[in-house]
Formats: sequence, C-alpha cells, structure tokens
Amino acid sequence: MFALVDANSFYASCETVFRPDLAGRPIVVLSNNDGCIVAANKRAKAFGNIMYQPYFQLAKMLEQKGTAVFSSNYELYGDLSHRMHTLLSQFAIEQEVYSIDECFLNFTGMQHWNFTHYGQSIKQSVMKQLGLPVAVGIGSSKTLAKAANNIAKQLPELEGVLCLSDLSPAGQNQMLAGLNVADIWGVGQRWSKRLNAIGIETALDLKQTPIKKIRKQFSVVLERTVHELNGIPCQSLQLVIPNKQQIISSRAFNKTIRDYKNMQQAVARYIARAAEKLRQQNGVCKQISVNIMTNPFQSTAQYNNWASTSLIYPSNHTGHLIERGKHCLKRIWKEGYEYKKALVILSDISEPGIMQYDLFADKARYSNNKKTDSLMQVIDKINSRMGKGTCRLAAEGNNSKSSWPMQRHRQSSRYTTCWKELPVAYLK
Ligand SMILES: [Mg+2]
Repeated sequence: MFALVDANSFYASCETVFRPDLAGRPIVVLSNNDGCIVAANKRAKAFGNIMYQPYFQLAKMLEQKGTAVFSSNYELYGDLSHRMHTLLSQFAIEQEVYSIDECFLNFTGMQHWNFTHYGQSIKQSVMKQLGLPVAVGIGSSKTLAKAANNIAKQLPELEGVLCLSDLSPAGQNQMLAGLNVADIWGVGQRWSKRLNAIGIETALDLKQTPIKKIRKQFSVVLERTVHELNGIPCQSLQLVIPNKQQIISSRAFNKTIRDYKNMQQAVARYIARAAEKLRQQNGVCKQISVNIMTNPFQSTAQYNNWASTSLIYPSNHTGHLIERGKHCLKRIWKEGYEYKKALVILSDISEPGIMQYDLFADKARYSNNKKTDSLMQVIDKINSRMGKGTCRLAAEGNNSKSSWPMQRHRQSSRYTTCWKELPVAYLK
C-alpha cells in the first residue's frame, strides 16, 4: 500500500501559517521579480483563469476583491517543506520526497491498519504541528495513491482523505469514473488528447482498456499506468534522489544592465549560486555556459547570445568556475544594449575523483584538492549560517545592494529561518 500526501495550495498555505488574520481571504503568490501569478488558494482560483498570468494585468481586479498578494518567499516555503517531510517520514517505513510539497509513503507490512483513519491522523498532525492543510490519497499502487489524492481534494465530503482499498470494487470504479484521464499521474496533455480521440475520457475508462490495445497504440509507460490503475504496482519508491545533470541559475534583473562590470558581477553571482548547489550534490562539472539577453517584450534593440566553455579538469570551485564564466561573457558581450537577464548553466556533471590527469596537470589549480575543497566548505558553512552571500568572492561585487537583486516588494517575513523576522506574538 502507498500513500501520497500533498499540501493544498502549498505556497499560499505557507503564507497563512503565521498570519491567521488571512483566514478566508483569497491569496496569490508571485514569481521572481513579481512577474506572474504562480500560486493561488482556492478562493483566488475561483476568480477564473489567473494562474501564470502577468500580475500587472490582474493587480487591480485582485485588489478590488481583497486579495492578499505576496512575492515568493522561498526561504519560508523551503523550511516549511523540510519540516513537513520530516514529520511525514515518521508515519511509514519508507518515504519518497516527490516535490516541495508532496511525498509518497510506503505502508508495506501494515495491511491490518485502518488506512482511512490513519490518513486522517496524518492530516491532523500536519495541521496541528505545522498549520498546513494536506490531502492524503491511499491505494495499492503509486498511480492509485496519486489518483486518490486528487479525488480527496475534489470531494469535500471525503475531508481530505481517500483510501481506495477501503471501498468496494464498485465504489472504487465510481471514484475513478469521476477523474479525468488527463489528471492521471503520467498521462498529461499529450496522451490525454489521443486517448480522448479513441473514447477514453476517465480514469475508469483507461483502467478497463485492454492492455494489448494500449501497448499497440501507445507505449510501455502507459501500459504500466494501466496496470497500476488495476492495483498492480509497477513502481516502487525512489528512495535515493538522483543528482541533477544540469544546474541552472538564472534571473531577470530588477533594472536593466548596460555596463560590462555590472554584468560581470551578476554573472559571477549566478555562478557562485550554481557552484554552491553543485557542491551540495557532491558533484563537479566540466562545462559552463553563459547567456545574456535584452528584454524581448520591449521595443528597444534586441540581443541574445550564448557561449560555452569546457574546463580542463572538472571542478566545483567557485573561483575556477567564475574565471571560465567571465571568459564566456567576454566572447558574447556587446556594448550599447539594455540587458534584462543572464543565465548560467553548469553541465557535464560527475562525481569528484573521476578524472584523467595528464602530464601537465596543475593539480593545485584545477583538481579538487584538499586546500580549495576546505575553503569552499568554510564559505558554504558561513553562508548557510549567516545568510546567502555573506562570504563571497570579490568578483561578485562588494555592494550588497547592487542594481540587479530581485524585486520582491510584497515578501512576507522569513518567520522560521531569520532571527530578526521571528513572528511577534504580542506587541505592546
Ligand atoms: Mg500541492
């Protein structure tokens, strides 16, 4: 048996944890630089098609309807996510963290438990200890657990918990008949259109389609989904998170950049951020790419270009990577444009220690030797304790209020990760 626990409108729910006064109000959360709407609670979603729409177009309407609008507060969401997953890990022998706000739990060996009841206690614990609303779906495969979660969110009478196995076969089918085939895990838009064309509209339709037909017309992956809908598990929990093959660091600037020095600093800072992530997954990279672009939505002169370069020896040292990144920037830089965005990609990632030295290898400089490794470790430690960018390379600039930090005018406090922003319980 598997459970899928998923938070309801996670970002919007995080905003309410320390703001009980927001109860009952519509809430939306904006993307970086307050560009688009990336999250909304149920009340805000009821205004119609607002997800991923530019904020400035809807700002007036949202204000008129009393909506609370927030800039993304990734520190808060990340910390609450970590707390939620830690709490949920105590409810099963195995846990797969699937995304920032959802995880699978493995209930193997618990056959005699009352799962609907257990699901309710999971839901209540998360609400009581973290103030976050979640839904719990339980089934005999991961696909069924996902489907059950989806249905539990749609039908208020289920009170956020559905265990399909606790229903009769007819009852299970009735539930699956109410679920759109496009909403099944792994089906998506691409397949749902083709499935609709041959008369498969709901999860129940797909469940009852002969396997042979699916194999012939679609793929093995969809065949697996059909098995899973029939309660035959084809996938176990992924307990080890695969490392990223590519690390991207990118952001639009608050103000456009016109001079080379500012751009160099911006690129250096993105590289530093990416290098930190690379070290977190204990990887080294061999390839670095830099992209700069003007704002395509403006009528000013347009320019957009890329450059990539290989490192002779794979590295995760911020200094080495910035040096190569600067080299890339030099090749693509053109004066006279108003740049709006820069992007950095670290790729060809491998584990440290797997490399071929050559006769002329300057190990001290390019390989990951003890001295540079421990320097990076110390920098990472300082920054994780004292805040991002506290300790940085001179190339990143010494002005913490440079012209290109993110625009986040409506950010809530970092209640759980910053001493200065702890919630105030009583103010005289
Ligand atoms: Mg969610």
